[in-house]
Order: sequence, then C-alpha cells, then structure tokens
Amino acid sequence: MITILAPAYNEEEVLGLFYNRVCNVIKDIDEEFELLFINDGSKDRTLQILKELASSDPRVSYIDLSRNYGKEIAMAAGFDHVKGDAVIIMDADLQDPPELIKDMVREWRNGYDDVYAKRRTRKGESAFKKLTSKWYWSLLAKIAYIPVLKDTGDFRLLSRKALNALMECRESERYTKGMYSLIGFKKKEILFDREERAAGKTKYNLRAMLLHAFHGITSMSVLPLKLAGFTGLLLCGAAFVMLLVLIVQALMPDKTIAPWSWVILPVLLFSGLQMVFIGIMGEYIGRIFKETKKRPLYFINEYHTSITTDEERQEGNK
Ligand code: UDP
Ligand code: MG
Repeated sequence: MITILAPAYNEEEVLGLFYNRVCNVIKDIDEEFELLFINDGSKDRTLQILKELASSDPRVSYIDLSRNYGKEIAMAAGFDHVKGDAVIIMDADLQDPPELIKDMVREWRNGYDDVYAKRRTRKGESAFKKLTSKWYWSLLAKIAYIPVLKDTGDFRLLSRKALNALMECRESERYTKGMYSLIGFKKKEILFDREERAAGKTKYNLRAMLLHAFHGITSMSVLPLKLAGFTGLLLCGAAFVMLLVLIVQALMPDKTIAPWSWVILPVLLFSGLQMVFIGIMGEYIGRIFKETKKRPLYFINEYHTSITTDEERQEGNK
C-alpha cells in the first residue's frame, strides 16, 4: 500500500479538486492507496470536507491537529501515522501535479528509496520570488553542513526505510528539506513543471517566507555563529596593520602623529579580541546545537551477517 500524505491548512477551495485529480491518477496504478490528510488547525470548512470524503471513501484517513502548527510539524504528524509501505508527500493545492505519482511509484518499484520531484519551471510565482529563491538556494548550498538539493521541495516518494529514518529525527525545530539529505538512501530525481495553485491563497506571505528561509539557514549551517570570529580576526588584523603604519610614521623625521591614533589602536585590538572569543564560543554553541537534536548517528541501509552468537542460538532453540 502507498500512502499519499497531504497537509492542509484552510484549503476548502481546492480539497475537492485535489481528491478528484488524485483518484483519477491512482485508479490506473496497480497498488492499494491510502489518502492521509492532516488538517493543520484550519479555520474554514477543511475538516468538514475531509469528514465527508472519509465517510464516502474508506481510503481516506485524516488527522485533525489541535491547532495550526505549520506545515513542517503537520508533515511530522503525518509520518507517524502512515500505514503504507511508501509515502508520497504532496501539497493539497495541486501545485504538485498528481500525474507524477505514476513515475514515482515506478522508480520505487525499481528500488529507489527517495524519489524526489525537481522543479524545471515554476508557474504563477512572481519574478521576485523566483529570483530570491534562486539566490537563497545557491547561498544555502554553499554554507550548509549537509548537502541541499536545489529546486526540490517536499514533493517526493519515500520508501518505508527512508520514512522510518525520518521518523527517528524527533527535533521540534524542523526543517524537513534538510532532513531528506541527512538520511541518505538511494535517491532518484524526476523533473516536473510546478503548476499554479488551483484555488485559494498561499499560506506563506513575505514575512513567513523570510522566517522560513532564516530557519533553513540556521538549521543547516553554523556559519552565522562563525561570523563573529571572522570579523574579530579582521579587526585584529586591522589593528596590526595600523600599528605598523604608526611605527613607521613615528620613525620618520619631522612627521607628527595625531595623538588619537594611539587611542584607536587598543580599541581596534580589544574589540577584535572580544569578537574572536565570541566566535570561539559560537563554535561550542554550534556543537551543542547539533548535539541537542539527538539525531541518530547513522541509518542502516542493509545489514548482512552469517554469524550467530551463542546467545542468539539459544534464543533460537527456545
Ligand atoms: N500548510 C499547512 N500548514 C500551514 C501552512 C501550509 O499544512 O501552516 C499546507 C498547505 O495547506 C499546503 C502546503 O502546506 O498544502 C503548502 O502551503 P502553500 O501552498 O500555502 O505554500 P506555497 O506553495 O505557496 O509555498
Ligand atoms: Mg502551494
């Protein structure tokens, strides 16, 4: 069985469309399906619509969260309740075309664990959003300590193996896009054209997008913590250069040095030193930050052994 997981927040206008189009696609696929919706504290008729769908179609399951938690947590709640052997994560607004489900299932049968959809184009998004998104992703790719995939979102199929790995990452400050890279496993890319929202409005305004972007950087990179250290080193360097210049000037005959020059020197040096030490603290905080996520050390793809220990043999005899 394959579970289609769709978080929904105030999506009354598109849910019906979404359901119809998904049903239309999966009826041709030789596999059982579950449609798992997460109602993320919607204030409109989303929950009622889900109840209606569930009462007429046993493939439909839904989870009604107690309030609006945001898409990342809604997805995590979904992961914990997937009944299928694989999960396909999709936005409820039809921006992720359901027709791709076929290709994803095909690659899953070919043995891939993470079949992710990569955007070739994105329709209905402003030039501003496209440009800032491009800059953002190239910056993130440079500074992140785990590899990030450009132009890919949450739209993907995960095998049970990959899903279980993801479920072991229990951090509450979640940036799932980074976690897909973190868990590894066999990945396969398929290209698609991102469509416009079928109806309704985006839940991410500029402020939410900036917050999300900042969250991405701070959860995948410790570079901001190191900035203080770099700046400190620069200041110390400047102090050193200034000292040299002042000494040379002092040695030159008939050249007077303004007395304040000597005051600037310790100011530069000590503010530089302070920043260096803040940077060093940043290094430690960065490690604490990684450690507090309590992430598993590794994920196993396959374990083979022909050796059985005495204890295991006894267990087997019992
Ligand atoms: N979503 C959610 N909780 C939220 C915000 C969004 O579950 O707090 C869902 C939303 O219903 C949609 C998906 O996350 O299915 C993506 O949201 P949206 O389409 O608004 O984002 P965009 O595609 O504009 O980035
Ligand atoms: Mg959308």
